[in-house]
Amino acid sequence: MTQASSGAVSADDFMQHYAADDYPEIRESVRRICADFPGSYWRALDEQEAYPSEFVTAMTQAGFLSALIPEQYGGAGLPLRAAGVILEEVHACGGNAAATHAQMYTMGTVLRHGSAEQKARYLPEIAAGRLRLQAFGVTEPTTGTDTTKLKTRAVRDGDHYVVNGQKIWTSRALYSDLMLLLARTTPVDQVTRKTDGLSVFLVDMRESVGHGMTIRPIKAMINHNTTEVFFDNLRVPAANLIGEEGKGFRYILDGMNAERILVSHESIGDAKWFVRTAVKYASERMVFDRPIGKNQGIQFPIARAYAQAQAAELMLRKAAAKFAAGLPCGEEANLSKLLSAEAAWEAGEACMQTHGGFAYAREYDVERKWREARVQRTAPVSTNLILAYVAEHVLGLPRSY
Ligand SMILES: Cc1cc2nc3c(=O)[nH]c(=O)nc-3n(C[C@H](O)[C@H](O)[C@H](O)COP(=O)(O)OP(=O)(O)OC[C@H]3O[C@@H](n4cnc5c(N)ncnc54)[C@H](O)[C@@H]3O)c2cc1C
Repeated sequence: MTQASSGAVSADDFMQHYAADDYPEIRESVRRICADFPGSYWRALDEQEAYPSEFVTAMTQAGFLSALIPEQYGGAGLPLRAAGVILEEVHACGGNAAATHAQMYTMGTVLRHGSAEQKARYLPEIAAGRLRLQAFGVTEPTTGTDTTKLKTRAVRDGDHYVVNGQKIWTSRALYSDLMLLLARTTPVDQVTRKTDGLSVFLVDMRESVGHGMTIRPIKAMINHNTTEVFFDNLRVPAANLIGEEGKGFRYILDGMNAERILVSHESIGDAKWFVRTAVKYASERMVFDRPIGKNQGIQFPIARAYAQAQAAELMLRKAAAKFAAGLPCGEEANLSKLLSAEAAWEAGEACMQTHGGFAYAREYDVERKWREARVQRTAPVSTNLILAYVAEHVLGLPRSY
């Protein structure tokens, strides 16, 4: 990496440095796809609240969305880090991987706990891009973060379960064929531990919409294609129960580290985009007859954001390495999620401030990326809940809930 005599790193050098990252072929290939989906593509979708179907098709055809599916089922069988790199590059290129990421982070539950029949039936179809597993129904309107209190019930009736209840913020439900659903199969007052009695189902939405399942889009701050899903006597075949009845909460928890590691990559990608975009603009924008990047008031927030992103990335790599080695990585996965979301937010703030009034002009994409980066502080897990995990499970402080 070369440095200009001023000590500042040029925007091109910044990218060159990152090109030397791990999985260079994957990064290069994702960048080539993303080049066909520039800022104008994402802006238009954002304005129309539309789904990036063409982008999802391109990513599917390139095999990226089956990265985590084992080769025996037609996937690439790549490690979690490689899947994360795919998401990171999409974000670093200015796009948004939210339309595609759930297929990666719900995959672990199906792989680890699904039956041989379920895997043989669904995974090759997902790998081939003929089925989308992009909907994940956990959050409910009245219970929120307190997942074990969720009220959606699934009651066994012969060779089916009958599902009643409601989910909220179920993203991509209108664009997915399958939903991984968490519902209560034994009432909470009949179990010893509140984490018991919850079960996971792989719901075939093609057979469900209009037959007990209704989906309503939510108008949101970002284009996340998120929805409310209502269940009214929806019949789900018992064959679609994942693993054992009543153990669903544990299965979902099992997948949390992978989910945190994957979405941390998106934040790191966002941070890289913000820093690169801010550096470029600060170097080119002339005010008072000199580039604004000469002012330390402009330089320092960008430099600080860069430092935060670098540190967060190190924690992310540690989390991914421990995950790959099969070691416990709850601490690293949570810290990584916290630090990367904060790094992206700080970088977004620096980029907004560097762009002055032009940050608000949609054609720069800065305000869109800033809005999009914010969600990582709330979903899929909010900052407070991560801090509670660190305080109580890592530092041994008394439990607060
Ligand atoms: C764009 C978007 C997409 C989403 N996609 C999905 C999806 O696909 N599937 C899905 O299931 N969910 C999804 N979610 C839901 C998301 O996971 C939840 O919004 C998130 O977990 C927080 O839940 P809540 O909104 O009910 O907040 P609440 O649980 O009501 O919490 C509100 C605030 O209080 C804090 N809080 C609550 N309890 C405590 C406590 N004990 N200690 C300290 N602080 C506390 C929280 O941290 C939060 O800041 C999505 C959300 C958004 C915004």
